[in-house]
Amino acid sequence: MFALCALGTLLVAAILQVTLFAASEDAVSRSMHYDVSWTGANGRIEAAQFEKFAARFAALGDEVDAEKARLFYEIILSRIETWDSGGFSELVLDRNPRQRARFEELRTLISSIAEDVDNLDQPKAQKKVLSVLEQAAPIIDRIGSDAHTIAVAEADIVRSELEQRQFHHRLVILALLAGAAALIGLVIRQNALMHRAKIAAEKNAKDFSYLARHDSLTGLPNRSALEEWFQTVFGSDQSHKLVAVYTLDLDGFKTINDLLGHPAGDKLLVSVSERLLKWAAKIDENCLVSRLGGDEFLILTELDHASSARSIAENLIEQFETPFDTEFGNMAVDATVGYAARWIGIDEYENLVLDADLALTEAKAGDKGRVLEFEPSMRSNLQRRQRIERDISKAVAIGDITPYYQLQIDLRSGRVFGVEALARWKHPEFGWISPAEFIPIAESCGDVVGLGRSILKQACYHASQLPEELKVSVNLSVVQLHDNQLIDEVKEILERSGLTPSRLTLEVTESVIISDTEAVVERLNQLKRLGVSIALDDFGTGYSALSYLTKFKWNELKIDRSFTEAARENPVNWTIIRGVRILAKDIGARVIAEGIETPEQEAKLANIGCDIGQGFLYSRPIPFNELLPVLRDIQMKPHAVLERC
Ligand code: C2E
Ligand code: MG
Ligand code: MG
Repeated sequence: MFALCALGTLLVAAILQVTLFAASEDAVSRSMHYDVSWTGANGRIEAAQFEKFAARFAALGDEVDAEKARLFYEIILSRIETWDSGGFSELVLDRNPRQRARFEELRTLISSIAEDVDNLDQPKAQKKVLSVLEQAAPIIDRIGSDAHTIAVAEADIVRSELEQRQFHHRLVILALLAGAAALIGLVIRQNALMHRAKIAAEKNAKDFSYLARHDSLTGLPNRSALEEWFQTVFGSDQSHKLVAVYTLDLDGFKTINDLLGHPAGDKLLVSVSERLLKWAAKIDENCLVSRLGGDEFLILTELDHASSARSIAENLIEQFETPFDTEFGNMAVDATVGYAARWIGIDEYENLVLDADLALTEAKAGDKGRVLEFEPSMRSNLQRRQRIERDISKAVAIGDITPYYQLQIDLRSGRVFGVEALARWKHPEFGWISPAEFIPIAESCGDVVGLGRSILKQACYHASQLPEELKVSVNLSVVQLHDNQLIDEVKEILERSGLTPSRLTLEVTESVIISDTEAVVERLNQLKRLGVSIALDDFGTGYSALSYLTKFKWNELKIDRSFTEAARENPVNWTIIRGVRILAKDIGARVIAEGIETPEQEAKLANIGCDIGQGFLYSRPIPFNELLPVLRDIQMKPHAVLERC
């Protein structure tokens, strides 16, 4: 704003200055009319001279006087012409008509004696000349003196005008100086501000560069600091070094976040990072601990012997045996570690990090809480995963992924209660792929929504062709449950297939209810309002907190196969199943025992009071076209183990 004012002042001052210059030039040009006075005075002198020499010649007859008289006559003639042109005519003659008339009279008079001047030696001519001069002299005098008066008056006006202009010039110059001073001040201030901004920007850049290379929660270097570590360790040295990369992931961290809240999760991460830093300092002074994001850490160290790579990894996982002391209380958490160690050159470090990552991915897919070393086969596993990821949506679209059905038997009557739809995919290159492999991949790439929809459609359509009393269960992924279209889609599928909603059960695992409980419970209630049943699948794996059983009015609890299996070695499991059975009765849910493989298991579970049994004892999952004959067989011979299985 200030700069605009200063610039405005300068602009106005400059325009004024130009206008003033133009006006001054006009005044100066008018001042040139000072010569008018001089011309007028000369005319009078010349007329007097002419008269003087003409009179002397007439008196004395000296030819020299005659010549001079003629000369002055010529001069007067040309003077008259001068008067009738330029500034003199403009100022003295043309402004006053009487003056012009006077002048014209003078011109006529002077012109009338041209011949007489030539014949000045004749007395008659002398007489005429002197008589004309007698008439002309007062006219010349008058015009000459008027010229002087006018010129002096004009000069006065011009002088005062110029003085006024000079005053204005001074004012304008002062304004220009003020404007320039303001601009200079502004530039100086601007420079100071820019200098300050530059210092602030440099500081910001430093802070930014630190933040860009460090994790803001734990202060540990992040992934971008890895390259720096390798550059420092290798330096300009081109030789190979024995390096180990450990990637570590906390087991069940998401559940801690979900159950105790993010602030508690953050505190745990800080405690973990502190413990890892202490541990790393004992391993090697150059051992780097960095946080890759979430609950994933990466440790880099140089090794003396390749054999120490494994013991370091095991030692690393042992660091998680003691719970972490945080302001939210003691938190116990396990870790899974993947690692890769070998001799590498500086240009191979990215591959080493990738290999450790791969080992971690494999480790997490299996039993958690363990250490896994990278093996080259893991690369092909990754390629397989990527291929599955690429092919899955196409397989859904062309109907390559279809439901197989496993029987569910009423343990009291031995009759078929219903079937569970289980997705099956025969990949053109890999052959049969287990849903335990492709469902998590579909979940991570988002294709599970389309896949789940397709299985639900087919299952409802197939079930609508089964006897009315049979139910169908379909698994629902957590990703599907968070999809806003789900309710409308289920409704539409039921309507189109004509399946009575009460014949459909949707199975969800407890991981669904751990995250965002309220929203999920609302979604499940919406589904129930459609008339379908909801089952809690895989109970006995994961956390199996009894509180989940009371958070929602489940229609069905499915006790996981692993739980029944473990009961062989751990008979207390039977007691727990009994407890769950009692609880289920209280909340009005039926209990399904999964994975029944032997008549002993079946008898035990039936004794406990489980309502339904599912397992290889009755049938493996089979395609729909094989289902109808199997159903016929088993309905005719209730509770029989099928020979085909
Ligand atoms: P689930 O829903 O708990 O299904 C039961 C799994 O146990 C099935 O494995 C079944 O074949 C297997 N099973 C049943 N009885 C026995 C037995 O007696 N012994 C043994 N060893 N296994 C038995 P499957 O078909 O491989 O499915 C694995 C998991 O994949 C399912 O566990 C379910 O979580 C998921 N899944 C399968 N189909 C779908 C689907 O269409 N959508 C979603 N979201 N998940 C699905
Ligand atoms: Mg299931
Ligand atoms: Mg299950």
